[in-house]
Amino acid sequence: MTLDATIRAVQSKIGVAVDGNPGPQTWAAIHRAIVGDVPAAGVGKLADERSERTIATLLPQVQPLARALVESAATIGISIKVISGTRTYDEQNVLYEQGRTNSGRIVTNARGGYSNHNFGIAFDIGVFEGGRYLEESPAYKAVGALGMKLGLDWGGSWRTITDEPHFQIRPAWAREMSERDMLAELRARRARGQSAFA
Ligand SMILES: [Zn+2]
Repeated sequence: MTLDATIRAVQSKIGVAVDGNPGPQTWAAIHRAIVGDVPAAGVGKLADERSERTIATLLPQVQPLARALVESAATIGISIKVISGTRTYDEQNVLYEQGRTNSGRIVTNARGGYSNHNFGIAFDIGVFEGGRYLEESPAYKAVGALGMKLGLDWGGSWRTITDEPHFQIRPAWAREMSERDMLAELRARRARGQSAFA
């Protein structure tokens, strides 16, 4: 089943409007369907403390998916943490200057407002082994496959610059858009005070 069909099926089952445009209720139901029953309905089993601090910076629609990814990686023996979430435009600009006007290596090509991380819809994971962070590991590809199964966009599947630790949710209105057009619309929505998912 495609993600869209899954969303519609879940929406019809839990009795909310079937529009293929999932709200928090639908995502929570998808999360429950994937990982089983969870303590507080719609919230999901909490991840580790560090991941939860990062997950708290994401939009409510994205949070259950980030937790589901941590849990489903654990079921195949891979320990991951959500290590990077939402950044303000200012924080993004500081990151952009790294390796350019500041020291360090270049870590992003996006200025403030030009990264999906500026809108609460994107997060990065780290693979850990025995508590140690692994910058590179074949496990990132396995986690990428799990993420795509959950309906997340995975940075490792991108055609140009691949970014294996990166995951994001594409709002329904952006399904047919280029990344560039989607970011332009996200900036416009931010300027209007409108949610990324409305
Ligand atoms: Zn990222």
